[in-house]
Amino acid sequence: MDKICIDDLKIFARHGVFEHENTNGQDFYVSAQLWLDTESAGMTDDLEKSVDYGAVCGLIGKVMTENTFKLIESAAQAVAEAILTAYPLVRQADVEVRKPHAPIPMDFRSVSVKISRSWHKALIALGSNIGDSRTYISDAVEKLRSSKYIREVKQSDLIVTKPYGYTDQDDFLNGAVLCETFLSPHGLLDLMHCIENEADRKREIHWGPRTLDLDLIFYDKEVIDTPDLTVPHPDMQNRDFVLRPAAELMPNYIHPVLGISVAELLRKLKENG
Ligand code: ATP
Ligand code: CA
Ligand code: CA
Repeated sequence: MDKICIDDLKIFARHGVFEHENTNGQDFYVSAQLWLDTESAGMTDDLEKSVDYGAVCGLIGKVMTENTFKLIESAAQAVAEAILTAYPLVRQADVEVRKPHAPIPMDFRSVSVKISRSWHKALIALGSNIGDSRTYISDAVEKLRSSKYIREVKQSDLIVTKPYGYTDQDDFLNGAVLCETFLSPHGLLDLMHCIENEADRKREIHWGPRTLDLDLIFYDKEVIDTPDLTVPHPDMQNRDFVLRPAAELMPNYIHPVLGISVAELLRKLKENG
């Protein structure tokens, strides 16, 4: 992909853990690499089809001077978030914040933090079978939609399904959301857990009744196997109530482990009863 690069933009700001840094301020240097496709701008010579780097510099200046962070990690995060949110054409923002006058009583050129944030596609399954399930689910989708970390939210139809695993409970309402996020997989899982908690989710019986269940089914083409997160969701291929909404939103997505499309997974599940 193409890149627009801004190197060492000098900005006087007040970030630091020491009070004197917040009071007196010092020079910071911010570099940013914006990954986007510039082919159509290059062929038409039209700025509208690209990103105005002057405006991006202005935005970086605003974020750096209108906030006082303790950490340059936070400054870099805020700059990356602002760029990704303000410029939809930018797929990825690499941001470096350098602090050549950091209060270290030794000789050094500078200290810096470099981060990379980008838009990823995520499929989240939705389920509920306690109380007003339709409202629990629509509130959850609204929270995802209004999160600054998420965009392009597409929701499937909701379907009524029979309970899975632990069958002595009410029918479920299920669906899914396909979205883009610049959170990491674990960052997205944390957000999903917050939304579940706000819906008063309790974990009493495994696969038991719940006001709201949000499962991360896919995250780009990533395969993740950690104690608290497995992606793709390890049982999705056996669940009609996940595959039907998934097939509505992304029928041609190839499961990165099983190597076949979502539509094909659904067809196979139906075939095998
Ligand atoms: P299942 O995941 O089989 O549908 P469940 O949804 O009933 O079961 P929960 O009690 O909601 O299970 O979640 C238990 C833990 O599973 C979560 O705290 C989370 O850390 C972990 N987990 C692992 N992989 C995922 C994933 N892909 N999506 C959501 N949670 C996951
Ligand atoms: Ca689940
Ligand atoms: Ca879950």
